[in-house]
Amino acid sequence: MSRYDRLGLESQIQHLGEEEHVLGAVTPPIFQTSLFVHEDCSAFEKSFDATGAERKPHNYSRISNPTLDMLERKLARMEHCEAGKVFGSGMAAISAAIMHCVESGSHVVAIDTCYGPTRMFLEEYLPKFGVTTTFVAGLCPEDVLDAIRPETKAIYLESPGSILFRLQDLETICSTARAKGIATIHDNSYSSPIFQNPADFGVDIIVHSASKYLGGHSDIVAGAMMTSQERMDAIIQHELALLGGILAPFPAWLMLRGVRTLPIRMKAHQEVGNFVANWLLDQPEVAQVFHPGLPTFPQRELFTKQMRGSGGLLSFEPVDQDEAKIRAFADALELYQLGVSWGGFESLCVPLTMHPIGWNERRWVVRLFNGLETPTDLLADLRQAFDRAGLAKR
Ligand SMILES: *Cc1c(COP(=O)(O)O)cnc(C)c1O
Repeated sequence: MSRYDRLGLESQIQHLGEEEHVLGAVTPPIFQTSLFVHEDCSAFEKSFDATGAERKPHNYSRISNPTLDMLERKLARMEHCEAGKVFGSGMAAISAAIMHCVESGSHVVAIDTCYGPTRMFLEEYLPKFGVTTTFVAGLCPEDVLDAIRPETKAIYLESPGSILFRLQDLETICSTARAKGIATIHDNSYSSPIFQNPADFGVDIIVHSASKYLGGHSDIVAGAMMTSQERMDAIIQHELALLGGILAPFPAWLMLRGVRTLPIRMKAHQEVGNFVANWLLDQPEVAQVFHPGLPTFPQRELFTKQMRGSGGLLSFEPVDQDEAKIRAFADALELYQLGVSWGGFESLCVPLTMHPIGWNERRWVVRLFNGLETPTDLLADLRQAFDRAGLAKR
């Protein structure tokens, strides 16, 4: 029982892991050091073991660092897991999690709308080590479970995905996977720990791109992983120590600062996301809006079961599929800037084509990230861009 158990999440986020106020400083210092020195040989020896939940002397910043440690304790708590580690990017955390689960000859089942580079890692990179992947739509649990083979070692989930926001039934998938000894990995970047805790539904390893909501200010590239202490110990000794995808102290400190405002930022993104999504439904240029927060979201029941909210990310399919006009729409936007990523203060737009399982052709979809600007300014920007681009109406 920890002293934090009786506190609310927001209180835990502010204080957990920061019990030592170095020289009385209310905010922690950045421990910008590559190595740690020791009083004597026995302390030095202890520092070589970075496993287990109790605090040990630090040894080398590729394995652990006090600035990272504070953040990792908060993140583990926020995701209802025993242990957390931050990585140099979301992809560093994702690739480490997958490699921890597989060996030569293993098979993975993955959701076809997962993050693009994750898909490339599974589809194009891992086959060179004899690891193969079956991609499934994942709209019903049988889709995922029917793809399991005797050599399946991991199921890779992303619920919701970050373009079409398809959900997977986590509880059903994870209970079957666990009974068969298959590890489940879930990319929870869309929801952040504020709106969804996959561990509550039986997910084994949770990964995040902290470049998105956790950092929250578009000023760091970082990743995070949360899992059991036992699994994390193995990952620390192998994928973290040997592949070396650690985060540096300064971006960890920026993430620590970002995480303090995560609960209030997520509320703001939810509000503006729902506002813009509902408005888009009424625009004659829009064929379809993809957003889990809409009452018309096709997986509404699963959304209500698994998630406590939806964020600022959404997409829509224009009625007019003419590439030149869609590009003209994106070019006409003034507040929404053209750019990848999301989760920061600024609104962003990416026009892209999608061809997921279940669609018989490639379609243009416009993804919008709704940032922390004034919501009515965002609507005005979208409306003037529709008018200037001259997209066909339904
Ligand atoms: C951005 C992103 C990643 C990759 O994270 P990086 O920090 O860019 O490596 C993974 N998953 C999702 C859903 C993302 O949006």
